Amino acid sequence: MVGEGILKGLAETARNFFGSYVSKERLTTVQYPEQRLPRIEAARNFPFLVFDGSDWQQGMRCVACQICEKECPPKCILIEKSKDKKPDAVGKQQFYPAVFDIDISVCMSCQICVEVCPFDAIKMDVDVDLPTDNRFGGLLLDKQQLAKSNEYYHGIHPTEAAAVDAALAEERAKAQAKKPAAAAPPAAPPSAAPVPEAQPVSGESK
Ligand code: SF4
Ligand code: SF4
Repeated sequence: MVGEGILKGLAETARNFFGSYVSKERLTTVQYPEQRLPRIEAARNFPFLVFDGSDWQQGMRCVACQICEKECPPKCILIEKSKDKKPDAVGKQQFYPAVFDIDISVCMSCQICVEVCPFDAIKMDVDVDLPTDNRFGGLLLDKQQLAKSNEYYHGIHPTEAAAVDAALAEERAKAQAKKPAAAAPPAAPPSAAPVPEAQPVSGESK
């Protein structure tokens, strides 16, 4: 029946309104900000940048590939790639974002930036306490404001973060396994004198 959904919605609203006088179960609002609703793991509002370890600059996973910037529908991400490189989580030299800004007054929380990031470097936050009286600069978040630790990520999206950690650990183990092979000397010609066995390379950054 046309409009059946609307009638059901109105009936539910009426049940909650009148029911809230006799049952706490029917109270669907809280006295924010003193009271908070429980956090929902699947909730999302604006993106943040994940970093590993305790140093947000060193541990930032973003390598400034700019895929998210290109794919963001309202174009609210601004990235400037660094001129130099630093080691990423697997020790590979990578660019990093010299500038990474997100204008959350424009962001529509679509999560496309998260879906397209190949490095699990950008995730959706659940923080809704972002009031400001500065409509423009106050809602333009820079990379320091966007940087949040992997522990924070685990706190808000534990299931997703555990799956990401497992995938990254596998990737890092594979990269680590390749290192001694890559560092081993070339095979000696058959006539050459025997050489000592190659030692694993030590002191490499992780
Ligand atoms: S959530 Fe969507 S709109 Fe917001 S920064 Fe990411 S891609 Fe852009
Ligand atoms: S957040 Fe991800 S997709 Fe965006 S620039 Fe950084 S690494 Fe690339």
